Amino acid sequence: MPFEIDNEKKKRHRRQANEIARHYKCPIKDCPKSYGSEGSLNQHIKLKHAEYYQEMIQQNNANQSIAELGAAAFMNKSGQDSKRG
Ligand SMILES: [Zn+2]
Repeated sequence: MPFEIDNEKKKRHRRQANEIARHYKCPIKDCPKSYGSEGSLNQHIKLKHAEYYQEMIQQNNANQSIAELGAAAFMNKSGQDSKRG
């Protein structure tokens, strides 16, 4: 064998939950939670930090991210969004 990387390979083998991409950390200081998607984080904030969530909404009144959250609730309804009647 020309290479000896086998030795090194055995040493590093367990690193997962640590390396997972979690860019969306809970903005609450005392909360160590972080999520892999904005939606998950928003949901967490909504459930765990309702007050903060309200503020967030007010600040991002015209934010799409928040709109998406609301949209998730209506996901069940898959139909047209036209105003025909
Ligand atoms: Zn939190």
